[in-house]
Amino acid sequence: MIPFFQEKDKHLIYECRRSSNKKIYPICPYCGEKRNISFKISTIYRLHSIGCPKCSDGISYSEKFLLEVFNQMNIQISFHPTVKEIPWSKPHFYDFYDKKRKVIIEVNGIQHYEKVKIFAQSLEEVKRNDKIKKEKAIKNGILKNKYIELDCRYSKKEFLKKSILTNFKFIDIYKIKENEIDWEECHNQAMKSMYIKIYKYKQENPNYTNKDLAKKFNVNKDTVSKAINMIKNVNLKNL
Ligand SMILES: [Zn+2]
Repeated sequence: MIPFFQEKDKHLIYECRRSSNKKIYPICPYCGEKRNISFKISTIYRLHSIGCPKCSDGISYSEKFLLEVFNQMNIQISFHPTVKEIPWSKPHFYDFYDKKRKVIIEVNGIQHYEKVKIFAQSLEEVKRNDKIKKEKAIKNGILKNKYIELDCRYSKKEFLKKSILTNFKFIDIYKIKENEIDWEECHNQAMKSMYIKIYKYKQENPNYTNKDLAKKFNVNKDTVSKAINMIKNVNLKNL
């Protein structure tokens, strides 16, 4: 958390609580970009992000957390699968697709469970859309017990860990046990920019094609090209 504070605001780390409504102009810990819009301290704690325009990947904490769970399980999964991977999905998009086991996983944030002020759609609209997506998947051959809606309403390690371990569909398919996953590492990876991770890996392994990188990081090729094009213009600080 600390790195999001500019030098002049550092005293606030000790003076303010995590729930503080006090606003600061944060700084990106990865590329040093100073945001010109203010953020509530509580929002930064909640999202673990300031949506840096220069290096943010737009991937949520929960999504990155789950990506790391799959990484540790050595399971190939498509994150944000393309229409090519799920031809019937259009115009909808799903969060994760396990082609081998024909599993779809939706990472449901708070707007799927509670009314959220900043969210454009109402709770009813979100729920209606969830239902349409689920029915569509089932109609197209995804078994009911392989359509997983994961409760990710809070971007917190303990919450997500519990949510995964108590999701009976997830456990039934992936058979993971609590001590088989390094949950702290899931948190660490969720705090990082996927774009920077991909970019750095490419620097260290120049022979990797975009396709190889997509496979390695379980993302689609668009994400890889975005990562490389965006981060090459960024002055990465001590990463
Ligand atoms: Zn940045």
